[in-house]
Amino acid sequence: MKLYPWQQKQWQHLLQRRRSGQLAHAFLFYGLEGLGKLDFARAFAEFMFCVAPVGDHPCGQCRSCRLLQAGNHPDLLLLQPEEKSKVIKIDQVRSLSSDFNQTAQQGGYKIAIIAPAEAMNLAAANALLKTLEEPTEDTMLILVSTKPQSLPATIRSRCQILAFLPPDKAVARQWLLEQSIDRAVYEGNVDILLGLTGDAPLKALDLAGNTNLLLVQQNWMVDLFKLLNSEIDPIVLASQYKETDLILFCTYLLNLIGDLLKIRSALSQYCVILSNENSLKVARSLAERISTDKLFTFFDKVLNLEKHLLLGINLNKQLVLEDLFIAWVRLL
Ligand SMILES: [Zn+2]
Repeated sequence: MKLYPWQQKQWQHLLQRRRSGQLAHAFLFYGLEGLGKLDFARAFAEFMFCVAPVGDHPCGQCRSCRLLQAGNHPDLLLLQPEEKSKVIKIDQVRSLSSDFNQTAQQGGYKIAIIAPAEAMNLAAANALLKTLEEPTEDTMLILVSTKPQSLPATIRSRCQILAFLPPDKAVARQWLLEQSIDRAVYEGNVDILLGLTGDAPLKALDLAGNTNLLLVQQNWMVDLFKLLNSEIDPIVLASQYKETDLILFCTYLLNLIGDLLKIRSALSQYCVILSNENSLKVARSLAERISTDKLFTFFDKVLNLEKHLLLGINLNKQLVLEDLFIAWVRLL
């Protein structure tokens, strides 16, 4: 069972509900990507199925636990977009509903996890609504979502909602350092990784496995300074960023501006991205030349763009980047 140190509050909440017989038929687990919500949902299913829980945890030994660990518990249904598709289709939801109408094979609960729930198209969501409105005894539906706002309100309102927040930096840092990957690669970069992922530890771990990342963000820094020195044209640079992960780039920019603001307030020891002496030196001279007002305006611009991207709104990448780079140049 995978339960992360930052999920204790949510875990205890569900256990408490179960003890008092107040478990809902449907849950919505939501929060940033990279917080382990799906693992949490599976862990809770394991706990619900386990025939001999030990304290607050499934035993890990009984038939149910074994079946779940092997990924083939007959009473756990996992609905995800089918291969090569980004959408959860109505047929998948219908087959789930008919499954829910049959008795559990192991004689207990039937649990379905839908992840990511926002991948359901409208028809699928409407079909699910029927199941939500007329829940079958001993069934539980868990929707896992990073974008709960894009789910129909009629669905959200029928779920018990559980929010997952990023852990404290210290907890996230500690957990990351405990993971068995090459520490040397990223030990000095844990804060950067967390900064780039909004403190989502699993996403940070994912990025840590991508050794290119640190190189990529060093290049971003170089390019941004080239822009300020008029060594490269914003439109040309935008065309070179076609493959860039825009959400990641926005997070990077937000951290960078945050760092520049910290430097202006003589708080450079708290910088996330500008953490080595070299980059700090360059950044200091830059920070002195840009007004706080302008930094905040640019910050809002990036934040707004990130919000649109997270909502999945389709944007013209070239135009967005041109606009961003031109605004960056105008900071000076
Ligand atoms: Zn068990």
